Amino acid sequence: MRPSFAPRLVNGPLYDPVVYTRILNEKDAVLFDCGHFFLSGAGLANKEILLINSIFVSHAHMDHFMGFDYVLRVILHRDKPLHVYGPEGITDKVLSKLRAYTWNLTMEYMLEVNIHEIQKDEILISSASVKDGFRKVRRQRQPRQGNLILRQPRYTIEAVALKHNTLSLGFVMKERLHVNIRSEVLAKKGYRAGPWVGRLKEMILEDETDGTLEVETVSGQKDMQIKDIIKDLVIISPGQKLTYLTDIRYSKDNLKRIEKISSGTDLLFIEAFYLDELKKEAYAKGHLTAAQAGEIARMVGAKKVVPMHISPRYHDQVDIIQDEISRSQMG
Ligand SMILES: [Zn+2]
Ligand SMILES: [Zn+2]
Repeated sequence: MRPSFAPRLVNGPLYDPVVYTRILNEKDAVLFDCGHFFLSGAGLANKEILLINSIFVSHAHMDHFMGFDYVLRVILHRDKPLHVYGPEGITDKVLSKLRAYTWNLTMEYMLEVNIHEIQKDEILISSASVKDGFRKVRRQRQPRQGNLILRQPRYTIEAVALKHNTLSLGFVMKERLHVNIRSEVLAKKGYRAGPWVGRLKEMILEDETDGTLEVETVSGQKDMQIKDIIKDLVIISPGQKLTYLTDIRYSKDNLKRIEKISSGTDLLFIEAFYLDELKKEAYAKGHLTAAQAGEIARMVGAKKVVPMHISPRYHDQVDIIQDEISRSQMG
């Protein structure tokens, strides 16, 4: 199966956790957390930042939120809006950042920032524009549908509130379906490639497969039943699932919530702040140890685990952290 998401741990496992995820074949990327970008390292190119439509902020501790200004600086001339999702209180925090600058030369700019504050029963959406220096705010409320916070044609994002020593949101990104066109049999079955193939994919993703579609064949254009085209050409499989978890306490309550939202995850980005020797300290500070990260990986059946946010005290012992995760993941 060719993957649809291309995620990358921008700063590597040792520094502020930032996961940049491109949605392949779309002008779309999302960012999980937004700490300090270490630009000298494998950082993000401006053209990658320009593709970011949504930023998901787990919580507003500085190491997860200070890079917001940098993203804003890069996309300021863009006319596509930016969406920021975060826990209770995020609206005031983002607005404070936006209003901290002098905006007297931006009247011609188009950028709009939409802040989605994930509350218990609803999402509070606040929209502000650089045009007036983010002074006027339009507000709107949306009832929550389970854990869902964003639905796109190709993927959904869910959020769950977890305990750190403040609230920290965990995020799950799910591809809705993985639609593979068997291009190798296209000609053999009498079809000709064309824009209809993209339309077909869209209709499958939108679950509109009852009708007909005009396709191009070797003998010209033809209306065909979508179900028949699917039989000929398409492999539909369950989509990829990616989980992002950081700054959380190892507690029964958190584990229950994580299991519910993250089971069957393909790729798990998870903090491994300390080794298990500092379990008590980890609990007090609301962080996971490597062994606990491994246990969570086992609980949700993660196919691949990417440790991140490792405490500076272990920066020369990443192998040991990795070993502790693997050992506990195997049980
Ligand atoms: Zn934190
Ligand atoms: Zn942190």
